[in-house]
Amino acid sequence: MVAFCALASCKNNKREHKNYAFFMVPKDPTIRRKWQEFAKWKEVKDYYYLSSILNPYTTINQ
Ligand SMILES: [Zn+2]
Repeated sequence: MVAFCALASCKNNKREHKNYAFFMVPKDPTIRRKWQEFAKWKEVKDYYYLSSILNPYTTINQ
């Protein structure tokens, strides 16, 4: 399955949005809870991702 952004207003997917990084939902329950509040999910699935536009300067410095 292609990773997609689970944010309702976004829905970017990894195949079509190559200038985005995709972060899988964290295992840590505390951090996961923060993601849930941020994204307003009713429940969180292990295959959820959030996308973030890649910062070219960050990439160069890695
Ligand atoms: Zn997104």
